[in-house]
Amino acid sequence: MDSIQIKDKKFTVSIKEEDILKEVSRVADEINRDLAGKNPLFLSVLNGSFMFTADLMKRITIPCEISFVKLASYQGVSSTGAVKEVIGINEDLSGRTIVIVEDIVDTGLTMQRLLETLGTRGPKEIHIATLLVKPEKLKVDLNIEYAAMRIPNDFIVGYGLDYDGFGRNYKDIYTVVNEE
Ligand code: 5GP
Repeated sequence: MDSIQIKDKKFTVSIKEEDILKEVSRVADEINRDLAGKNPLFLSVLNGSFMFTADLMKRITIPCEISFVKLASYQGVSSTGAVKEVIGINEDLSGRTIVIVEDIVDTGLTMQRLLETLGTRGPKEIHIATLLVKPEKLKVDLNIEYAAMRIPNDFIVGYGLDYDGFGRNYKDIYTVVNEE
């Protein structure tokens, strides 16, 4: 399928599954090498990272644990408007090597919030693994050690990422077609 329609938007395929998996394998190799002996705890951020997490974890060969967290949005009284709360951390993070597994880092504000929240629980170190980064949009200084792919500043869906809840099921990544 070269193009798909989701609600009012048309998308065309931009990164095929085969190319995604090559980069996911590369990231897994790097993590296997760097974090050997550290028994890392992978924290996958739902919903968007479910497909990336599955493919990544199949390629992680060092002893590790995996758990899932979610960001709940609520309108809080803050200067930034929407505040996100991290829910679902049931593990003791103290002294642990954590790897956050995200779908995409855009402005980086979500990742910053995650780092702040997890940082209060006494981990030894926190690493970031993300499927995608939009470097042009990054607003905060983040040390993104493990990024599968860098993409331009366009809206994408597929491979776990959605548009209004739809499109997560596609195995390839699609970019929105901007109709002039
Ligand atoms: P940030 O806080 O870094 O600006 O935003 C990160 C979140 O925005 C991601 O976890 C994802 O949910 C959403 N996001 C950013 N860019 C895209 C995109 O191109 N497509 C989709 N589907 N979600 C995006």
